[in-house]
Amino acid sequence: MQLGSSLQTKQDEDRDFDREHLWHPYSSATHPLPVYHVATAKGCRIKLKDGRELVEGMSSWWCAIHGYNHPVLNAALRQQTEKMAHVMFGGLTHSAAIELGRLLLSIAPPSMRKIFYVDSGSVAVEVAMKMAVQYQYALGKKQKTNFITIRRGYHGDTWNAMSVCDPITGMHSLFGDALPLRHFVPSPAVRPDEDWRDEDISPLRHMVEQHARDTAALILEPIVQGAGGMRFYHPQYLREAAKLCREHDLLLIFDEIATGFGRTGKMFAWEHAGVEPDIMCIGKALTGGYMTLSAVLCSDMVAEGICSGSTGVLMHGPTFMANPLACAVARASVELLTQNDWQSAVHRIQEQLKRELAPAADLPRVKDVRVLGAIGVVEMHEDVDMEYTTRRLVDEGVWLRPFGKLIYTMPPYCISQGELSRITSAIVKIAGERKPH
Ligand code: PMP
Repeated sequence: MQLGSSLQTKQDEDRDFDREHLWHPYSSATHPLPVYHVATAKGCRIKLKDGRELVEGMSSWWCAIHGYNHPVLNAALRQQTEKMAHVMFGGLTHSAAIELGRLLLSIAPPSMRKIFYVDSGSVAVEVAMKMAVQYQYALGKKQKTNFITIRRGYHGDTWNAMSVCDPITGMHSLFGDALPLRHFVPSPAVRPDEDWRDEDISPLRHMVEQHARDTAALILEPIVQGAGGMRFYHPQYLREAAKLCREHDLLLIFDEIATGFGRTGKMFAWEHAGVEPDIMCIGKALTGGYMTLSAVLCSDMVAEGICSGSTGVLMHGPTFMANPLACAVARASVELLTQNDWQSAVHRIQEQLKRELAPAADLPRVKDVRVLGAIGVVEMHEDVDMEYTTRRLVDEGVWLRPFGKLIYTMPPYCISQGELSRITSAIVKIAGERKPH
């Protein structure tokens, strides 16, 4: 598309300002990778400033499950804005938080009875870890301050969240000794469709037996390990893990920030195993991708434990806790999900991904192809060149953000069959190409 010269100048200035002053995620401020300037987004389409239109295969890091610019979510925000955009949650409450809470309890594991709203996924993980330590402390087990987790996990970028991320693919190499030292178990190797063997739980059993004395909780992402490598594992692992936690007096924390709200084919991934956690983190798709909001849910046992301690309170309370705009749009998003047949939508996406990504398995550069719910993953033998591969995907008219060895998609649930085919054919095509040197 030909742009007028003054428009072109403005676009160049904007690009230069962005490169000079705006720091993007996981990037260099001095040698930034190119970024694509978005003008508008609607449904499953992202429109770039230069006029190109991309099919959205990432749901903006897995949260925009209903697509962009949804009339129902827009209306919920507008209506809440008329009432109030924000009030503090200390000493005050509001209907947006209450109604969202009711809805969340109706879809959460039955044992989840208390809800603590926070700002982002990482902070939810921080709060969950604080809850676990405060719980043990309140019960007089002051030495139980550490955590067991599984490798290849990802739980966020704040300090304690980082400490339980995979020590190799996470940021341990950068922060080294500055991070608290956690107990890491190899990540479960057994896939959901493989036969379970008792030895699959042995590493975790040994770790729990060895370290239960100083450990407050086991924290993990149930069924799908997301940003640590998009790996899927057997539900029996969670059943065995829950049993070990009970036997050895550890709390069980499920980080469902990525897996929640239907992504794996269940509303939450715990349902694959029928195992309920003591503490659960949710976020990302909670607001349908409109605002940042997350929540930590816990059982009465955990809440009563914490509140029986010497302080009697949970020591956390962010400024924007239960922000009414975020709660209102979250309520609208969850209602939209539950009132529609999301199971059929996710199932349809799953079957199409399986069918259309299968040919990638025969490509020489491809190590593995896997699909679960609305998650499609092509794992390469070598790391992909993110800048080059992203550019090739944009050339093909799709938006994906490959990382490590992975080219993957987590599309909005409203994606059409044709749009999804555009994504899968771009993935298969590019996975089959050699990067020109
Ligand atoms: N936990 C999991 C499982 C995640 O996938 C993420 C984000 N990718 C987080 C925590 C952190 O969430 P946020 O980026 O909102 O802080």
